[in-house]
Amino acid sequence: MKTRLLTEQDIDAAAAILRNGGLLGIPTETVYGLGADGLNAAAVRRIFTAKGRPQDNPLILHVPGASWLDLYCRSIPSAAYALAEAFWPGPLTMILRRREHVPNVVTCGLNTVGVRCPKHPVTLEIIRAANVPVAAPSGNLSGRPSPTCAAHMMEDMDGRIDAIVDGGPCGVGVESTIIDLTAQPPRLLRPGGLPLEALRDVLGEVSVDKAVLSPLAPGEKPKAPGMKYRHYAPKAPVMVVAGESRRTARYIRRHLGDHTGVICFDEYKNMFPGCVVETIGPAGDPEEQARRVFDALRAFDGTDAAEIFAQCPANAGLGLAVANRLKKAAGFHVVEAVDVGGDGL
Ligand code: AMP
Ligand code: MG
Repeated sequence: MKTRLLTEQDIDAAAAILRNGGLLGIPTETVYGLGADGLNAAAVRRIFTAKGRPQDNPLILHVPGASWLDLYCRSIPSAAYALAEAFWPGPLTMILRRREHVPNVVTCGLNTVGVRCPKHPVTLEIIRAANVPVAAPSGNLSGRPSPTCAAHMMEDMDGRIDAIVDGGPCGVGVESTIIDLTAQPPRLLRPGGLPLEALRDVLGEVSVDKAVLSPLAPGEKPKAPGMKYRHYAPKAPVMVVAGESRRTARYIRRHLGDHTGVICFDEYKNMFPGCVVETIGPAGDPEEQARRVFDALRAFDGTDAAEIFAQCPANAGLGLAVANRLKKAAGFHVVEAVDVGGDGL
């Protein structure tokens, strides 16, 4: 199959691919998604094949607004409408009880479904033109960093899907925040483009699923099935170095080998001579780090880096999502930087 690259003008062609049961790369504000008609089980099954995605990892339904919630969900709490009013279109996925006619292949047999309204004018137009909910996970091969531009999605999906709509680079850069509204209190299943603090402003108490911050014990089942897989990984192993940023930079410098890659904040980029260095933005700017973290992880694949050290932001604001993606890329190999005294910083 030849994968076509469509432009923002090709709305009708893109909608036709969805309506005919094809696979379409869609731009969103978070990352590029791999979409299919969410009511067409055969089409949705092809998403799993194209990505090499495990069969027990459900997909998110993308809709053009809160008025579609009632079509696919039941027993919808008022909190869902309050969140949609505050944050849709935007990087928030809500887990709600599903209606029977949502295909099992979308939810992987769960009695809940994830629903989101993406904030990208082209994709909203495509969904409206197709007039179907679009089931879409991120548009990467399973296990790889999520794509934040059409070229990165083409790298992974060329020959596997019908087309990709080039809608420019993603403004947020990490996937949506997932909140489970069937839990009491509501529970954060995945940190993402909408900060936890913003959810708490609307909902009051929000609990945080254990899988967000720590690895699962063998056999333990997370509420968001996707959280149990190694994710976002470049080919070389990653080690996250946690702690205050000057301290982590010094730690990494002390541990450099012959083929070391470094993911660091802009301020420290000159501290690692001879290394492959990818910066992700200033230490105090987690929004910029979110935009760049997947590109940085992807960039090492064409290099001779045999191991990668990563500086990691604190868990506030979008830092929670950036730290989570880095730790998952590292398979939760995290070391706390201990300060052994200054060496020039
Ligand atoms: P992706 O955006 O590629 O990471 O894939 C969608 C994510 O949403 C995965 O991590 C899924 O585990 C999660 N997800 C989708 N539907 C549900 C659901 N009904 N309950 C919990 N998590 C879900
Ligand atoms: Mg994904």
